[in-house]
Amino acid sequence: MTVIDEVLAANEIYARTHELRALTPRPIRKLAILTCMDTRLSIRTLGLKTGDAHIIRNAGGIVTDDSLRSLIVSHHLLGTEEFMVINHTDCGLMRTSEQDLRTRIQNRTGTAAVSPSFFYAFQNIEENVRHQLQKLHTHPWIPKSVAIRGFVYDVTSGQLREVKHS
Ligand SMILES: [Zn+2]
Repeated sequence: MTVIDEVLAANEIYARTHELRALTPRPIRKLAILTCMDTRLSIRTLGLKTGDAHIIRNAGGIVTDDSLRSLIVSHHLLGTEEFMVINHTDCGLMRTSEQDLRTRIQNRTGTAAVSPSFFYAFQNIEENVRHQLQKLHTHPWIPKSVAIRGFVYDVTSGQLREVKHS
């Protein structure tokens, strides 16, 4: 049995009660979170319940064309009013550089690829968070009424630390 088979079996059991049936697509607490796909971060870490917020995740918690698309849909179509950007300590994208990552994967697979065009590797986590905030603050489709705040999640202590936008 693969893990996917295990998931399918678990879903069969879940569907008998389908407890989340009453939720609507609009986040109850009008919050959207952009964060890393890291396993150590979850709604539990943030005191949230399923349905409270949109959680948009990618490697690093980066404002890319695609996560921007999701945040814009989140606000304009589904009513979120606060955006949180969360990067975290010990992120895989911090231990590498753009070129190193590309070379490593290229050597491993024996071939080059045009896509993804960029991995968004970074060195300084605070600077990286500020850079993401900058991209959101300057976007013409994100109104000033949306509260946008950035954070570093410390995977050792479990605490969030705010990064001030400058
Ligand atoms: Zn990460």
